[in-house]
Amino acid sequence: MITAQIQTAAYLFAAILFILSLGGLSSQESAKRGVFYGIIGMAIAIISTVFGGDVHGQVYIIVAIAIASLIGITVARKVEMTSMPQLVAILHSFVGLAAVLVGFGSYLDPKTQSLIGSEHTIHLIEVVLGVFIGAVTFTGSIIAWGKLEGKITAKALAYKGRHLVNIILLLISIYLGVLFAAAPGTEGLIYLLVIAGISAFIGVMLVMAIGGADMPVVISMLNSYSGWAAAAAGFMLGNNLLIITGALVGSSGAILSIIMCEAMNRSFLSVIFGGFGNGPKGEATAMVGEVTSTSHQEVADLLKDANNVVIVPGYGMAVAKAQYPVHDLVEILQKQGKVVRFGIHPVAGRLPGHMNVLLAEANVPYDIVMEMDEINTDMTKTDVVMVIGANDIVNPGAEEDKSSPIYGMPVIQVWNAKKVIVMKRSMAVGYAGVENPLFYKENADMLYGDAKESVDKINTLLKS
Ligand code: NDP
Repeated sequence: MITAQIQTAAYLFAAILFILSLGGLSSQESAKRGVFYGIIGMAIAIISTVFGGDVHGQVYIIVAIAIASLIGITVARKVEMTSMPQLVAILHSFVGLAAVLVGFGSYLDPKTQSLIGSEHTIHLIEVVLGVFIGAVTFTGSIIAWGKLEGKITAKALAYKGRHLVNIILLLISIYLGVLFAAAPGTEGLIYLLVIAGISAFIGVMLVMAIGGADMPVVISMLNSYSGWAAAAAGFMLGNNLLIITGALVGSSGAILSIIMCEAMNRSFLSVIFGGFGNGPKGEATAMVGEVTSTSHQEVADLLKDANNVVIVPGYGMAVAKAQYPVHDLVEILQKQGKVVRFGIHPVAGRLPGHMNVLLAEANVPYDIVMEMDEINTDMTKTDVVMVIGANDIVNPGAEEDKSSPIYGMPVIQVWNAKKVIVMKRSMAVGYAGVENPLFYKENADMLYGDAKESVDKINTLLKS
């Protein structure tokens, strides 16, 4: 058994490893090291908690961990890279559910029943907060999973007066929380159940009201909520490391949400409160111009003549697993003396950093991977932009069309380049469900087909 002193030291060490892990994740070069620190920290945390002096029934815990690990490993090995965001969303829901269950368990625990005075009141506040945040995270994450999986419409399902309804529900929960705290023994259980029900409903309403374009922020916000839910569970269980870990996840998720809101020109509060002020602001603008298509041979010829090429990848590159042939394409073009760079939009794909992960997986050098602002300033000097499976992130309507649901979101201004090749399978819309005027621009040509197949064909033509 691990003594209390050793446990405290182990917790401190694990907390340091978690902080180093977060630090490592801040850049692609150090990300692997960051993940490694996180794994070691978590192993230390689990061992020192399970074998800590006040824990009994280790056998059951170890069996539960073994079964859960087996499920986790199987799911994680099987999951496609494109389904990663859904997996993350559903994992957040587990954290929320865990906080709710810990809340009920902790309330009914005979040990906490013996608490008196302010200690008892503080414990009950922790229980209510944990159950409330946990239930919002649980149902909100399930709705986010449904939206990402395409089981629920990605469009914002917002009704008038929903903010008022949410505020009233919040006030009712606070009132029930007071009744819960005043109830003797375990008689407050019914209030806690109702609070859990109300907060679960709030979670559904908050995420349902958020439209496609704002979903990236919701994912990172639910990540933050799951951290706060874990921290609340830490308070209930009196586990300092869980409090620290929860706070780290909660605050880093909140910081990421703010960064993403800034990158997308969205107000943080409007996203938290469920799509304040989003939705179309008038009739959709009709598309002007004609859509022209091109062939693989024409694109290969265009690339042969170009000096400066920019590749803008999007969700379709992930679906097609085109990152590997894209890496080969870069090598071929570089060997021919051309300057090739990538332009990465902060919300490209379905997960913050989605494109960076894919490109790193395919060994694309980091120094040619540019952020949106860096690449936008160079667009006019670019000969050819290859938009590979991207749509919303290169939509000029976000700058020009006030009726567009993504109006105001900064985009990669590919249309400022001399020539734009849009590689996708059809004229279908992207995640936000809006038409893209880029396809109708004079300097843009569509290259229809699966992105991987198209890049493979272009590579063969360039080599011959
Ligand atoms: P989009 O979803 O806008 O567009 C992707 C395009 O890829 C589709 O229009 C599709 O067109 C095409 N495509 C799909 N499969 C293939 C394939 N096999 N080969 C070639 N093309 C393919 O993606 P973007 O990356 O441009 O934008 C991301 C969107 O997702 C934004 O709206 C963002 O807000 C949202 N989002 C982002 C999150 C994040 O954190 N990054 C999280 C949640 C949502 P077609 O069917 O014609 O081939």
